[in-house]
Amino acid sequence: MLNITAIPALQDNYIWAIHNDTHVAIVDPGEAAPVLDFLRRTGLQLTAILCTHRHHDHIGGITELREVYNVPVYGCSHPKNPHITHPLRENDQLMLTAPAIEFRIWEVPGHINDHIAYITPGAVFCGDVMFGAGCGRNFEGTLEQLHHSLQRLATLPDDTLVYCAHEYTALDLPFALACEPDNPDIAGRIKETRELDDAHQPTVPFTIGLEKATNPFLRLHQPQLLETLRTHGWPCRSDLGTFTALRNWRDHF
Ligand SMILES: [Zn+2]
Repeated sequence: MLNITAIPALQDNYIWAIHNDTHVAIVDPGEAAPVLDFLRRTGLQLTAILCTHRHHDHIGGITELREVYNVPVYGCSHPKNPHITHPLRENDQLMLTAPAIEFRIWEVPGHINDHIAYITPGAVFCGDVMFGAGCGRNFEGTLEQLHHSLQRLATLPDDTLVYCAHEYTALDLPFALACEPDNPDIAGRIKETRELDDAHQPTVPFTIGLEKATNPFLRLHQPQLLETLRTHGWPCRSDLGTFTALRNWRDHF
């Protein structure tokens, strides 16, 4: 039986710990201290580090962790990411034995070039591509790539749990509501998110189905969203045009 536990780190990052009773693999250790503390507390043995991409808040803890645990580091090879010992590419299968879990790898560029997602039945670890009711910023590559990566994640079954790397849901929902003021699912999610925040609980993971109902970046055909963009002076003649207008507006929202 596998468990997935959030290890809060830095300002608003989640390092994900995938574990059974004895072994743990961690995803995106942006800093070492909270992981070392987690390992001490649980007595679990670290067996692997998985990277979604090379931003410092995702890899910043690897050097210190590997001074203690000489474990393989999986991820997308990139000249600016010296940590990867086992490079992964599109469509690779990653089989971990302890804990026993198998991932399919998708390349999901658009936030940054060397970004991959780890997909296993029922769950996806997608780093900074999709957030609760939002998406990552376009630092490298094109908005077309980011749009395509999000569309691809949205093809996963609705009940797939999305383990993204930041707690941004409460920050992104007001934008979603501005796009679609009459969407009852967004109103419901705002209420739910407030309750989770009040209880100091993560809003992550969430499901692909909930994202399709509330995330403006996956709702490019919604009449109210299109009307909102039109009233702001962004007539949208294509999906990519709509996506671009949304991402630009969100950057200044
Ligand atoms: Zn990032």
